[in-house]
Amino acid sequence: MRPRNHGSFVNCLIKKMEVIGHQKILKFLQRSAINNQLAHSYLFYGPKHIGKNKVAEVFVSNLFCLNKKKNSFLPCGTCTSCQQLLKKIHPDFIYLGSSFSSFELTPQGKIGVEQTRQIKEFLYSSPFSAQYKVVIIEETDNLTLPAANALLKLLEEPPLRSIIILISRSFTYLPATLRSRCQVLRFSFPLKEEIIKFLKQEFFLKEEKAKEILGLAIGRPGLAIQFAQNFKEIEQERSLINDFISLLSKNDSESKFRLVDLILNTKKSPQQTLNNLTRLLRDLILVKLNLCPADKSISIQLRDLAQKYTQKDLQNLINQIFKTQLLLAANVNQKLAIENLLINQ
Ligand SMILES: [Zn+2]
Repeated sequence: MRPRNHGSFVNCLIKKMEVIGHQKILKFLQRSAINNQLAHSYLFYGPKHIGKNKVAEVFVSNLFCLNKKKNSFLPCGTCTSCQQLLKKIHPDFIYLGSSFSSFELTPQGKIGVEQTRQIKEFLYSSPFSAQYKVVIIEETDNLTLPAANALLKLLEEPPLRSIIILISRSFTYLPATLRSRCQVLRFSFPLKEEIIKFLKQEFFLKEEKAKEILGLAIGRPGLAIQFAQNFKEIEQERSLINDFISLLSKNDSESKFRLVDLILNTKKSPQQTLNNLTRLLRDLILVKLNLCPADKSISIQLRDLAQKYTQKDLQNLINQIFKTQLLLAANVNQKLAIENLLINQ
């Protein structure tokens, strides 16, 4: 799918390149690259969700970036190489992990001898467009023992211009023989202030909320971002429902037009927004029947609003919404369909 707004798409790519903390490690890797002193294999180890994968990806992107800036350890995020790496489809890059793998793992989701053979074949072939061929293996406890032995042989005689990055939660997950072949980099928790700053900038959160989320994430930026993303969604849903309640309470011509605008202009599709409206109307019916609404947190507002509509009105509106959704699915003009639903009744 083509991005609708190229500017925001570019911003989004650059954002994906941001790393919270770990600047010393990034600088060290950058210096090694500049001085041509990169190791053939690295072990990144440290607690989960603190940014090991992100550093590995940014490091490789910077190595492959076609618009590399002098003295910067952040890639441009927009060139062909950077984009291919973000999508994990760069021809000189292989990623083996739990959420994504460049090729099929064993039926148990492990990296076995066959996968190691494929890694070897990949590393021994000439680079396609980059100067290096890079493999990232996330969660090294997924290596079977025969695979670890096969990998050891590969690390003992690494092909030129090849880099393997092993990522592990624990130093001891990897056999000592393999560890001894790697440049070991230990990752620790980034500073709380750095994570809070990122959460405030990225998700427009207030200091208190950013701190609360960081607390929930027990200081791990990866988790904090996941929570903040969900929190933002929850806040957006809450704000949409509050707008619905306020406009349905007034129920005059102006608020009907504003309701049409609201449905057409949320980040979600009109169909999805109408689903929210239907849920609210169902809750209103439940309140009218003296039953508990699904969204108990707004039961007081629902009680006030329910008094302004009959049960038949609410049921009719739900039926009309359902018919409108069928029309929208058939690609009718969205604005006309929503205006018909809410104004021209
Ligand atoms: Zn680039």
